Amino acid sequence: MNFDANKLIKKCENDLKGSCFHQVDDTALYNQEKVLRAFQNNKVALRHFSPTSGYGYDDVGRDTLCKVFSDVFRTEKAIVSPLIANGTHALTIAMFGILRPGDELLYITGEPYDTLEDVIKGEGIGSLKEFGVKFNKIELTSDGKFDFEAIKAALIERKPRMIGIQRSRGYSWRNALKYKDFEEIITFIRNISPLSVIMVDNCYGEFVDKEEPSEAGADLIVGSLIKNPGGGLAPTGGYVAGKAEYVDLVAGKLTAPGIGMEVGSYMSTYQYFYQGLFMAPHVVAQAIKASLLFCAVFSELGYEVLPAPYSVGGDIITSIKFPRAENLISFCQAVQKCSPIDSFVTPEPWDMPGYNDQVIMAAGSFVQGASIEMSADSPIRAPYIAYFQGSLTYEHAVIALKKCLEYLSGSEK
Ligand SMILES: *Cc1c(COP(=O)(O)O)cnc(C)c1O
Repeated sequence: MNFDANKLIKKCENDLKGSCFHQVDDTALYNQEKVLRAFQNNKVALRHFSPTSGYGYDDVGRDTLCKVFSDVFRTEKAIVSPLIANGTHALTIAMFGILRPGDELLYITGEPYDTLEDVIKGEGIGSLKEFGVKFNKIELTSDGKFDFEAIKAALIERKPRMIGIQRSRGYSWRNALKYKDFEEIITFIRNISPLSVIMVDNCYGEFVDKEEPSEAGADLIVGSLIKNPGGGLAPTGGYVAGKAEYVDLVAGKLTAPGIGMEVGSYMSTYQYFYQGLFMAPHVVAQAIKASLLFCAVFSELGYEVLPAPYSVGGDIITSIKFPRAENLISFCQAVQKCSPIDSFVTPEPWDMPGYNDQVIMAAGSFVQGASIEMSADSPIRAPYIAYFQGSLTYEHAVIALKKCLEYLSGSEK
């Protein structure tokens, strides 16, 4: 590549400082206050970090953590637990908690996230389909908007029990949804089918805006603690927050019906869940700035990117379209090379559980696979899109970006 990478990065950084970084800082400040207040309202104290064992009855650390999250997300109730293995698990209990045989699940953002395919439609593995739950989807329009006409028709005709909305882009070429999109669509759904339970897959979206989809009226929001709301410190876990009657049904699937959140112990400290949530608004801001920089630089170099350069999207991801699979793989390998952990290993595409294409994943993270930490991943399928996200510090992303440009100039030779 016959250009000065350092100069280009500096130029983009200066442009970003003059355009959207202040918006990111403003959102972080707002959300930091929101989180701090939730800690204070719930009188979080050192005793809440204490480990528990066995049944975990009267585990105030667990119960208070749920209340703090519920407060931050402005919901009636929340389940926040290290017993939730990942985002897929959280979404699974949310769906199994609400849906009953004969019910319909209607996704209005197209195909759900890759790992949910087996959960919804798998054969011989206890999927929703095998329990008699019908599934339908409505694609977003070609410009990434809701297909209001098709949604209206489906709602009037069938009154689906549950509506699924995926906030983040997943592995598709589209923008993430923003808060105003949720306001619009949720009002629209409520007017036509008030009894449908609206569930938002909120993965990668927490703290990107000042409000969460729950504040726009979503019944349930669901996410992973090794993404945004764990702040890079939560070692595992997920959450489901929303209306109390629905959260209680979901709790019955996490443990057992009739037991719900009365049990569930954790023989390690809860400190990192609390501290991670406290850090999350700032860490998310770092990750957004990292994505903005990658987005700007790759756009300047002539690559197709999403979101549009110099605009804050609805999640922490930047998508970059590469001409060939080799470029995509080089990009991910450069990210891995710049990681604090496992910098010496070279990621290769592999058959990751839950995904139907081979996936390459660069994540040299402190918490295994944590994608609030700097990471890049992609299914190996055309078009070759790298999904870059995370960074505990913005500085780390600057360093990695230089390496990516170096690797790509190598792979272009
Ligand atoms: C990460 C993610 C999930 C869940 O993935 P896990 O790897 O199981 O945590 C679900 N939906 C979206 C949009 C995601 O980004």
